[in-house]
Amino acid sequence: MAKSAFQADWPVLSPLQTGLRGRCPRCGEGRLFHGFLNLRDTCDVCGLDYRFADPADGPAFFVMMFACIPSVVFALWVETQFEPTLWVHLVTSLPVLLITCIPPLRPLKGWLVASQFFYKAEEGRLAAPALKATAAE
Ligand SMILES: [Zn+2]
Repeated sequence: MAKSAFQADWPVLSPLQTGLRGRCPRCGEGRLFHGFLNLRDTCDVCGLDYRFADPADGPAFFVMMFACIPSVVFALWVETQFEPTLWVHLVTSLPVLLITCIPPLRPLKGWLVASQFFYKAEEGRLAAPALKATAAE
């Protein structure tokens, strides 16, 4: 059963639980993406505005560190061990590179967006001078 947008008692959902599945970090039901990596404007179930989300290069960074570099190491290993012709790399190294780098992008982006919501991460702001003065007293 879908909850209304004004219902305040949303369950606490793990960013892993929602983000990896590409679901809304607040209700866990609405879809986070339209297309492969484009975020929707709002949740189609609870109405959460996704404009807070800005994972920037985060998904690409994680893919580069944990998938792309091992894939390139694999390609280099194949090259140094077997010295194959180019077509061997086209049927071994290229598929390994594509399979390890492209599919993880979406779940990683979903996880980062859900983590931003869960931990209430946002850009830092400078405190207003009036607030600083009252806080020091
Ligand atoms: Zn939602």
